[in-house]
Amino acid sequence: MTELKRMLNWRFIFLIGIAVVMFLIFLRMPKPCQEPLTYRLGRIDERFGLTHLEFSMAIRKAAAIWGKPLSRELFREDSQGTIEISLIYDYRQEVSDKLKQLNYRMDGTNDTFERMKMRYESLKSEHEQKSVTLENDLHAYNARINAYNDEIQSWNRQGGVPETHRIRLMSGKNELDSVRESLKIRQDEAKRLADEISTMMLVINEIVAMHNQDVDHYRDVGSRLVGEFREGFFESKDGKQSIAIYHFDNEAKLVRLLVHELGHALRLNHSNNPNAVMYRLNQFDAAELTADDIAALKARCEGK
Ligand SMILES: [Zn+2]
Repeated sequence: MTELKRMLNWRFIFLIGIAVVMFLIFLRMPKPCQEPLTYRLGRIDERFGLTHLEFSMAIRKAAAIWGKPLSRELFREDSQGTIEISLIYDYRQEVSDKLKQLNYRMDGTNDTFERMKMRYESLKSEHEQKSVTLENDLHAYNARINAYNDEIQSWNRQGGVPETHRIRLMSGKNELDSVRESLKIRQDEAKRLADEISTMMLVINEIVAMHNQDVDHYRDVGSRLVGEFREGFFESKDGKQSIAIYHFDNEAKLVRLLVHELGHALRLNHSNNPNAVMYRLNQFDAAELTADDIAALKARCEGK
């Protein structure tokens, strides 16, 4: 009997011991947001036109935006940091740069894409019409220059251009020269137009390709097309964390994008509020947190 009691006591003490050890482990476990997450700069493609310092400043700005509501440092740059943040140049920025050259602004709507296709169609028919009349005018010019040369040659065979025809031929030659000048200008214009059309064709094809590529990922987006750009990406894989930035129009958009991806690094999910920084699309310039973002942050960091 006493033997059994003793065993029970020992078992009790053993269980208490385990509980104490578990509790100590729990206390030593870093609580979310208690220690700043560390990051380091990764690859920075120079085609974005940003220096290391400028990129680092943009990240610092984005990090400070998350830190403000908690009055706490949530991120810190460190050459050995855990999260690698890179600027990666690929078709996304390339398409955007090309659109900028063509004076298009990507506002992330299907409307922009439709307008671009309409402009492409109208430029194409303009180019086709102009090419036809240019071709006809070139033909007419060649016929006139041949007739002119034939006449000169024929006069030369007869011992030279007679005085009575000289003035007429000279003014005819002057007129042909000015026709040639204006044809040259129209040819250059046609070439510029053709260049613009082929660039637009490329852009349209790339957007369509992107759309098809991302269809699985963005099945819920509906009519949006251009806005489906994955401008940035946070990944946590095999113990490695990384943020890749693929596309931004200006510094404000970059900061907003970084705030969003750093939000993922804080383990925040997407918000359903289209104004929130944590919304799945980056459609605004302002990088201010909405009440939804702050609530998600506090829930994560303070359990509130
Ligand atoms: Zn996201």
